[in-house]
Amino acid sequence: MTDDLPAAPTPFRKVEPGEGEEAKRALAWTHTARFLVTASQLSELPPSELPEIAFVGRSNAGKSTAINALAQQRRLAFASKTPGRTQHINLFELGPKDSPDALFADLPGYGYAAVERAAKQRWQQVMAEYLETRRNLETIVLLVDARLGITPIDRALLDFVAPRIGNGTVRLLVLLTKTDKLSRQQTATALADAGKTLESIATEAADVSLVPFSALRGQGVGDVAAFLRAVVRPLRSGVR
Ligand code: GDP
Repeated sequence: MTDDLPAAPTPFRKVEPGEGEEAKRALAWTHTARFLVTASQLSELPPSELPEIAFVGRSNAGKSTAINALAQQRRLAFASKTPGRTQHINLFELGPKDSPDALFADLPGYGYAAVERAAKQRWQQVMAEYLETRRNLETIVLLVDARLGITPIDRALLDFVAPRIGNGTVRLLVLLTKTDKLSRQQTATALADAGKTLESIATEAADVSLVPFSALRGQGVGDVAAFLRAVVRPLRSGVR
């Protein structure tokens, strides 16, 4: 599915093209995503033992579109766009209804200029607390608009989570989104630039991946679904 997209540079773990049966099974799994709960503060978030995959990014980075593409549902992630809910964490459950096996957490988009200062500060606090203390947090999926690259505000978030990523307790997957708006060469440059920034937080123990993504063209969707499914599978069978 990534055939006409350049590959991300080493030293990051490669997100293998999730084609064929593997991608199909993974997409069937992400398709099971259903809304569980919305929380405006951490105390409203139910504790869980299920591996949690958190989606973060600047407003407009393409986060809702990516979640909807992964789930193959048109409006799943748009609850977070409802006025009054933009500063909420929305949880989605995945897997069989009687034995869910993972959670997606859609975190509020950041960096939106029109948000008033007090709301921004409150968001930062909820977000920071979540990223620092959520016990079952397994993977952070950071969405970055390929045309903007990793901006200073994304960088601030990365620095903030660097300790948990650096010691290997939380994985990081960076999606360079909307690559359909770039040429192949521009995408390659965007990947190289993002790669350089990520190198600074990548330690021996860190599990960091970078992948080009276009919800519009369906590029990377199967790959990312397969990547996420592979990440939660060992947890499910209690290997880790
Ligand atoms: P969010 O604020 O991060 O949830 O961003 P959205 O998912 O709402 O996307 C922001 C804008 O980017 C919308 O106008 C989307 O239609 C557009 N968008 C999202 N993904 C893609 C993509 O893969 N390709 C293109 N061309 N546009 C996209």
